[in-house]
Formats: sequence, C-alpha cells, structure tokens
Amino acid sequence: MAAIQRRKFDTLIIGAGGGGLRAALKLSDADASVAVVSKVFPTRSHTVAAQGGMNAALANVLPDNWHWHMFDTIKGSDYLGDQDAIEYMCRAAPKAVYELEHFGVPFSRLDNGKIYQRPFGGQSQNFGGDQAARTCAAADRTGHAILHSLYQQNIRARTHFFDEYFSVDLLKNDEGHVLGALIFNIHDGQPIIIEAKTTLLATGGAGQLYRTTTNAMINTGDGLGMALRAGVPLQDMEFFQFHPTGIAGRGMLITEGARGEGGYLVNGDGERLMERYAPKAKDLASRDVVSRAIATEIREGRGCGPNKDYVMLKLDHLGEAVIQKRLPGIRQTCMTFLGIDPAEAAIPVFPTAHYTMGGIPTNRNGQVVMPVKDTPEEVIEGLYAAGECACVSVHGANRLGGNSLLDILVFGRAAANHIIDYLKENRYHRSMDEASVNKAMARFQRWDKKAEDGGESVSALRDELKAVMEQHCGVFRNDEVLKEGVQKIEQLAERLKEATIGDHSDTFNTARVEALELENLMACGLATMHSACARRESRGAHSRIDYPERDDKNWMRHSLYSFESGLDYKPVRTKPVSVDSFPPKPRVY
Ligand SMILES: Cc1cc2nc3c(=O)[nH]c(=O)nc-3n(C[C@H](O)[C@H](O)[C@H](O)COP(=O)(O)OP(=O)(O)OC[C@H]3O[C@@H](n4cnc5c(N)ncnc54)[C@H](O)[C@@H]3O)c2cc1C
Repeated sequence: MAAIQRRKFDTLIIGAGGGGLRAALKLSDADASVAVVSKVFPTRSHTVAAQGGMNAALANVLPDNWHWHMFDTIKGSDYLGDQDAIEYMCRAAPKAVYELEHFGVPFSRLDNGKIYQRPFGGQSQNFGGDQAARTCAAADRTGHAILHSLYQQNIRARTHFFDEYFSVDLLKNDEGHVLGALIFNIHDGQPIIIEAKTTLLATGGAGQLYRTTTNAMINTGDGLGMALRAGVPLQDMEFFQFHPTGIAGRGMLITEGARGEGGYLVNGDGERLMERYAPKAKDLASRDVVSRAIATEIREGRGCGPNKDYVMLKLDHLGEAVIQKRLPGIRQTCMTFLGIDPAEAAIPVFPTAHYTMGGIPTNRNGQVVMPVKDTPEEVIEGLYAAGECACVSVHGANRLGGNSLLDILVFGRAAANHIIDYLKENRYHRSMDEASVNKAMARFQRWDKKAEDGGESVSALRDELKAVMEQHCGVFRNDEVLKEGVQKIEQLAERLKEATIGDHSDTFNTARVEALELENLMACGLATMHSACARRESRGAHSRIDYPERDDKNWMRHSLYSFESGLDYKPVRTKPVSVDSFPPKPRVY
C-alpha cells in the first residue's frame, strides 16, 4: 500500500459547527496553524439549524443579571451541573453576544436599537421570581446567522478547511498524548494523517440515536465514539433531552421561542395543559417538565387526533404580523411539511429527541479530563473538547433552551485560549505511535468488507438501534424496560462486528461513512442505556417510573461509562468560583 499522506498543523479541530469555528477563529487570529475537518461543508453543520436564540443577561427587555442566569441554569440542570463552569459561562455570556455582533451576526432589534431578547423556558428574575427575557435572537434563524458569520470570519483569518473529510479515530503516542487523527476524503476515500500538537473535538451531538429526532442525519456522536475508543469515558449519557415540541410523527423542531412569543399547548379536551403541571411558569417551564406533561396527557387519554397521540401548539392568536416577524422559519416549516399555516391553525406536536446533555468530560478550559480514584482529575495532554460533544458540565440533567449556543461559543473560545498557552510551552511535534495509526487504519479498512462477503446490512442494524433506543430509553423509563434495552443493545453491538455494507463502489464513500457512523452511534447507545439502567432516581431528563424522586444523597454524582471499566461515578462540583453555592432544592416551576 502507498504511504499515507501526512499533514502537520499546530491544532486540529474536528467539527465546523459553532463550537469548532469559534475556537478556530481565535486560534487563527493568534497566528496558530489550524486545520478544521468537517464531514459536511462547514455551513451545513448542525448549528445552522438552531432557531430560538442564545441566552445572555443583557437586560435589554426586562431586568436581568448573570447571577440570576446562573441560578436558573443550576436549577434547570436539576443540580447536576457543575457550578464553577456554570458561573463561568453565565458571566461570559454578554461578552460572547457582543463578540458575535461585531463578527456580523444580524441580531433582531428592539425599537431603541438594542438586541431583541425573548423569554425562554426556565428563565426567571431574582432567583425564581417573574419570567425573564434572556434569549438573544436573529428571528428564528439564530444558528444560521451565527454559523455563517463565524465561517466568513474564519475565511478572513485564513483557517485551513478540510471540507467533506471524515475523521476516523484519534492518534496517540505511547505516553497517551493525543497527536492528531486519521481522516479520509469522502469523495475519493484517500486517508490522510493529520499530525497536530493539540486536537479539539467539536463534533456535535448524537441525536440520530433515536428514530424521531430534531437532529440532522450528521449528528451521529462521532467524537463520542472516538473518545471512547481512545479510552476516555463518557459522562452523564443517561441524560438525553426530549424537546416538547417536535412536529408529531416527523420530528422537525418548533422552537421554544414559539411559546416564548406567547404560544401555548392544548390537549384533546381543549384545555391549556401546562396549568396542571407548572402553575406559575406554565408553557415556559423547563423542557423536561413540559415533555413529561405532554407524555402524561397522552398516556392518560387526553391526546389529540384520531389516535390521541399528540397535543396541539396554538400560535394563531398571536396574529400573522408577529408570526411573520418573529417566527418566519417555523411558519415556513409548518406550511411545507404539514400544509398548516400556524397563523391560522394549531400545530400537532410531540416530545422529540433533541440534545445530548452528556459527553466527553472536560474542565473549564476545554481540556479532556480522566477520573483518577481519590485524587484530582488528570488532563489528557493535547486533547480538548467543546460544544455538544463535550460535558463540562453546564447542562447537568437538563439543558435550558438557549444555553447550548452559549455553551459552544463560550467554551469553544475558552479551549482556544488554553491551546494558545499550551502551544507556547509545546513548540514541537511529538512523534506518533505507529501502532495507533495501524489501529485506526484497521478500523477504516474493516469496512472494505462487502455485502457479497456475507453478513447483515448496516442500514438495517441502524434502524434496529433507533427502535431499541426509542422503546427502551425514552421520556419515561423503568428497570424492566431498561434491562431489556441493555440486553438488546449489547446483542446489536455484537451483530455489528459482523455486518457489511452494500455496494460501496459509489463515488462518495457514503456507505463507508454510514458504517463508521453506526459504530459511533452504537458506542453512544451502549453508554446511554447502561448509564440509564444504573441510575435509580429521577433527575432532569432521566425520569424513572420506579424511582420517581430525586435522590441527592446517593445520586448527586456524574456517571462515567467506558469500554474498559463499565460504569464509574465522580462528584458534582458544587462550589462556584466567586459566589455562594446554590444548594439543591425541590424543583418547581
Ligand atoms: C433543530 C435544533 C434547533 C436548536 N435551536 C437551538 C437554539 O435556538 N438555541 C440553543 O442554544 N441551542 C439550540 N439547539 C442546540 C444547538 O444548536 C447545538 O447544540 C449546537 O449548535 C451544537 O454545536 P456544535 O458546534 O457542538 O456541533 P454541530 O454544529 O453539530 O457541528 C458538528 C460538526 O462536527 C462535524 N463532524 C462530526 N463528526 C465528524 C467526523 N467524524 N469527521 C469530521 N467531521 C465531523 C460536522 O461536520 C460538523 O461540522 C438546537 C438544536 C437543534 C437540533
């Protein structure tokens, strides 16, 4: 075989969503040589789909401050979020918004010219008081505006892009330093070794684990799979967010901003259902609360439609002008996919898989950390993670709407700042362990095996995995259903070892990509199901019918799942940096 091409950079960033591009911009502006690898053209990364906006206590519409934002985020996380990281994020939020404004993001405006802010779920003034309005939006196309601005800024800063290249696995030396990755060109299948002094994983979430999802086909948890195979455990994977308002049966998102603008949910009896579950916050309660409320209404026979299997989101009372000004994208989505104009009729909605709260454990600098028994955590030299694939952990057991765009920008930037310092101390490339290259190449070449060699098809296994996740790890869970889920997913993982892909003589290696993605999804599925089965309490998005209460005494700790040692746990960081802790309280909205 011809020698594999090698390229050298100071930093390799895998992922060109908001997290990866924010980091890349900071590094390129600091004159580091930066390679950004993305399996899709950068502006097709999933950040482009973010609708409702980004949280920051600017106080442009109602009184606000970062400390209230911090309280809401900790309460929203059901007290599983790390309070030092949450403090850092909420303090940094206004600056992150103003930076974006200066990069060219066309935020919606108030009549006085300030940035428009809408109310979102779980937001309050004065530590649990009246509703706040904290979410900065560019109509309902905020992610689109952010991603395009960041991409243009990276072009200006001369970031080097590897567009439509797929990253297979991380590469290391025998001391455990991460030194780059094996990638391949999806167009012609040619592998390339990227040697880098630092590597940042910014590969987004794993929403494709579920059949009905708001996530794009590309969200297959690739960074999480790469981390697990490199020996890094995944943290808090049992916490998967179901968004209350996916279009029923189809999954496309109707942003929480729709309820922020005054929309509300009604059941089959025409009642405003959230009054029963969250008397104060109503439709703007936290997402886990609203999703459970909808699932309960349907389970108790108060759903809508012939099969009573969804509820309705009403916006028509807002009037066409408001909908067209503030929610033009979701209006278009409803007209295209449902033939319904929300200015005239209600939208059928159902809780839909949306966001991966768990991920690769990092500290506030984006450094990937490993748990070490009874001692402080150790960092993995040269490896960073930011964005939805990371777990820093600011979302804990339940993410607040508008906090993910904030997370990816704040921690993308923080990781870049740390990398800049690291590069000053680590000026030369270390030599790579060839065994690590061979291992990654073996995984890449394993999918040369064709259908005619026998074995099950990858696409059929992928459908089965999604069905198992949906049936055994959904909004409500119990021991019996989860244990069965663990068994089924273990069997699927075994069967995948013998699977084959169809004819991959296709020009674009799509079948090979799908197979590699399924391996990553399977890794995420194993971590999610095992972690969920073990956690015997209800907290945030993890709702156990057999253990309905939160159990702070035994379970206020992060789970860690690895291939090598199965499940382990580590404490929540309850001490912020400069303010008092928020101790756990009953969570009512
Ligand atoms: C429909 C929708 C609406 C949302 N709206 C909001 C909102 O209004 N506010 C909010 O705060 N959050 C929102 N979110 C969540 C938020 O958009 C995401 O969490 C966030 O954008 C993720 O950004 P990221 O940079 O981590 O990853 P992504 O934007 O998902 O980018 C991942 C990148 O990794 C690359 N990649 C992945 N695997 C590989 C591989 N193997 N090789 C090479 N490249 C790879 C991809 O090509 C891509 O470039 C929404 C989510 C959805 C699904």
